Amino acid sequence: MSDAVTEFVEQARAVSFAEAVDRLKVPEPRKGKPEFEGPCPRCGGNDRFAVNRKKAVWLCRGCGAGGRDGIGLAAHMLHLDVKSRAGFLEACSAVLDEPIPAGGERETEEERAARLERIDAAKAKAAQNRKDREDEGNLYREREIEKARNFWINATDCRENLRAMDYLRDYLFARTRFTVPDGVFVNLRARSAFGYYHGEDERGKPLEVHSGPAMIAPIVSSDYRIIGCHITWLDLRNGKGNSRPVLWGLSKEGAKAGKPLLPNAGRHRTPTPVDIEAGFYERLPTKKMRGHKTGGFIPLLGEPEATRWLGGEGIENVIAVAGAEGFRDDTFYFSAGDIGNLAGPADPDSAFTHESVVTRLANGGTRKRPIPGPVPKKDQAPDDALQVAAHVRELVLAADGDSERIWTASAMARAKARLARDDLDIEIWWPPEGMDWSGALSAAIAGDA
Ligand SMILES: [Zn+2]
Repeated sequence: MSDAVTEFVEQARAVSFAEAVDRLKVPEPRKGKPEFEGPCPRCGGNDRFAVNRKKAVWLCRGCGAGGRDGIGLAAHMLHLDVKSRAGFLEACSAVLDEPIPAGGERETEEERAARLERIDAAKAKAAQNRKDREDEGNLYREREIEKARNFWINATDCRENLRAMDYLRDYLFARTRFTVPDGVFVNLRARSAFGYYHGEDERGKPLEVHSGPAMIAPIVSSDYRIIGCHITWLDLRNGKGNSRPVLWGLSKEGAKAGKPLLPNAGRHRTPTPVDIEAGFYERLPTKKMRGHKTGGFIPLLGEPEATRWLGGEGIENVIAVAGAEGFRDDTFYFSAGDIGNLAGPADPDSAFTHESVVTRLANGGTRKRPIPGPVPKKDQAPDDALQVAAHVRELVLAADGDSERIWTASAMARAKARLARDDLDIEIWWPPEGMDWSGALSAAIAGDA
């Protein structure tokens, strides 16, 4: 072997892993991921090939190949056989981005042509996989939207069933102290025995942990197509609580400890206090959103053609505020479903911390949690968050007072900045500190009496 070739190989071995990764044009990791994941240049797939610049290691779970040096990675990506002298030198050439010096063995024209063909075939296969996966994702999304739409369409129209209407009206009265007008039931529908699923049973089928009355609201897009639904399970017998059922599900720890499932045997079972204390079971939320929600809103009362819109995060709070102002005829009342959809994504540079927003640590201490800032993310798509129609001139956003104040204030400021335009007057209404709207308003009504 000539001195030039020896030196060439030594130089290639001295190239750092990260440098080799850059020369081989491995894409940067996706945001928030420690390593690049993608299809393997040899065996395809979607995410089986991983390259970690910082830890200087690469791996393909499909080929069972991997290593810690740039030359091996180059050989894998470029379909070179390092056991052959020519293949090895070609791999060195790739990490150095320099031609093989005179005297070094190199592949023949035919070998090179065959190899480039293999690379192209692998790339085409990866592209096809990506397309298949996207198609599958779209199909899944379409089916999920269809299902969610049917939950609402097939629910009971309360205008044709007064018992159902009374039940929802009683629930909303219990939560807000206001009797809702009939117009609400254009949107809010009921199911008398709606299944609540959590986890899987012994055969891997979705497990029904509860079945009971539910309020179903449609989620509509800005062109008023139904894209999802919002479900609230109700239990008026639980009057001291929030008039919703108390639901329990097996936690991860419980499953690990071999604790039994809590199937719905006629009525939902409550785990023992000891098992609850040990964290084997967790309280389940009594609200769910199905289908698609971002970019949409839940119509509650009135016509969207109105030039005054009033909305907030949750259905009950918006109804409480609407009741307090007398369910105005000139106003369209709506809920965003959740605060993320109301506020929209934040510009990451505007994040901040505050002593009131912390994560509790296992050692008893606390750590400040980053709060998404008041500045909206640039270049948002229309379905990144709720949109307000162009004809609206007055927008009132009712903030939820029962969540953390600073966090909510930042989110509301973001919503206002995001929706701001010259011909729209936006106001944010706050309940008194430490209270939610229904609590504050019931207290005010009690005071008046
Ligand atoms: Zn592979």
